[in-house]
Amino acid sequence: MELKRPFIIAGPCSAESEEQLVSTATALAAAGKIDVLRAGVWKPRTKPNTFEGAGIKALPWLAKAKELTGLPVATEVATAKHVESAMAFDVDILWVGARTAANPFSMQEVAEALRGTKKPIFVKNPVNGDVDLWCGAVERLAVCGVENIGLIHRGFSGYGAGELRNAPMWHLALEMRRRMPDLPMICDPSHICGCRQYIADISQQAADLNYDGLMIESHINPDEVWSDAKQQLTPDALSALLDGIKWRAGESSSQSFQTALMGLREQIDSLDREIMQLLSERMGVAEKIGRIKRENDVRILQTVRWDDIVDRALARSASLGLSEHFLRTLLDAIHIESITRQNKVMNE
Ligand code: PEP
Ligand code: MN
Repeated sequence: MELKRPFIIAGPCSAESEEQLVSTATALAAAGKIDVLRAGVWKPRTKPNTFEGAGIKALPWLAKAKELTGLPVATEVATAKHVESAMAFDVDILWVGARTAANPFSMQEVAEALRGTKKPIFVKNPVNGDVDLWCGAVERLAVCGVENIGLIHRGFSGYGAGELRNAPMWHLALEMRRRMPDLPMICDPSHICGCRQYIADISQQAADLNYDGLMIESHINPDEVWSDAKQQLTPDALSALLDGIKWRAGESSSQSFQTALMGLREQIDSLDREIMQLLSERMGVAEKIGRIKRENDVRILQTVRWDDIVDRALARSASLGLSEHFLRTLLDAIHIESITRQNKVMNE
């Protein structure tokens, strides 16, 4: 599927009323910066007794917003019934949400309901960081003859939860892109962030990682929102945010740029070789430790020693200009490999 770049989808998390949807859509269309209007009709909510979407009665509101603004409309589908209803109202683009993409039974049901459709169907990443599962969701659609498939990266729950609602884990989205290079991929910074303040930064990162576009939540009145209140931007705020994003080129033919880039890449390659060499030597030492531990009947793990290594490294994080998170992740990987190597030696 070929998309205009950048391809921008925006609109409220949920369609709440005709008035709310039409006024949001009108303001978004007037700014002239978006390609598609989104609005959730069926909402997968974490807790019961919360607003679960207006349901079928919202579909005419989408049709009205489309008629008044000329914007194509998009909504989320999670069951065969949703697909059938959305199709009956000629919703232009459908997406499969993160919870549905994580469930093979639901995914299969949706794929079969979509059999042979020419409409663009976007698949969000599953809530858990499982690229195979994301691929599987796409493959189920493809097997059912769905031709126009796109990807939406909306972050992964749980792991590394911090300031952001869902950890972006960019490397997983980039791995998905590597495996499915022909599918366009857009980023949903609203669900990654969970609050307004980081949306611009995450959007810019997506632009710089060569994403094809963005899906951002926008509501005419963020103070009175029925779902995902903290992450809705007013149409004006969205417009300003979109103006601030730089969609930079993939290449430059400037000779001085090419020369400088080549020089820096050589430095990187040489540093990488040194890092690998040092890691190899470090693992060799770990094996020697494993051997003397075996000879002296001492177990592998000494927690105090490891805590000490981590504390000393983290204390240097500022002076090294490396984040604590990065150092910890790196040391964890080294530690796991060290333990594996010592284990092997122990039990030779
Ligand atoms: C949404 O887009 O409103 C939504 C429910 O997203 P996700 O499936 O990414 O949680
Ligand atoms: Mn939402």
